[in-house]
Amino acid sequence: MTGRTHDLIGFAAFLTAGVLVPSLSLNIETLAVSVVGNVVGSLIPDVDQATNKLWDMLPVGNIVGKFGRKAFYKHRTITHSLLGGFLLFKFLVFIIPKIFNPNYINPQIVLVSIMIGFVMHLIADSITREGLPLFFPLKFKIGFPPIAALRIPTGGIIEHFIVFPSTAIYIVWLLINNKEKVLTIAKLLHK
Ligand SMILES: [Zn+2]
Repeated sequence: MTGRTHDLIGFAAFLTAGVLVPSLSLNIETLAVSVVGNVVGSLIPDVDQATNKLWDMLPVGNIVGKFGRKAFYKHRTITHSLLGGFLLFKFLVFIIPKIFNPNYINPQIVLVSIMIGFVMHLIADSITREGLPLFFPLKFKIGFPPIAALRIPTGGIIEHFIVFPSTAIYIVWLLINNKEKVLTIAKLLHK
């Protein structure tokens, strides 16, 4: 799937989690970092692709980007696996409290937001033709449905005209049907 679709699917899941399990310790600072974290988490698995937006977002852009873009020789390996997810999780648990002040920013919410983006990326890619090397370094790929020919091509008509719009519609539906909860969350931000 393309970065744009991953962003939207990751964000839809992020909102769903926010509505289903609203956190009372949410504040505006945590929300801002979590939204950015969710977008980054949705894009992380594709850092192995030179075209990934994350490389453009880097502050020192060109130098790091030039190296980073070439560091991965193959698309969809460890970054799309359980092992990659586990390493990312361990890294985040270590790094988040060192970057953000826990007096203002809830590290658990940030961690969960990034991981939601990551996990949703893998789930979304599992319905594409290329499949998912979930058990990397084992070489076989999985997907749903199991027959690759029945899955959708990345960046194709189905992704652009069905997956993307239906995710957008779902977000609108979610917000409309959970007005009360959304307002409660908005009030939390207002304190
Ligand atoms: Zn991917």
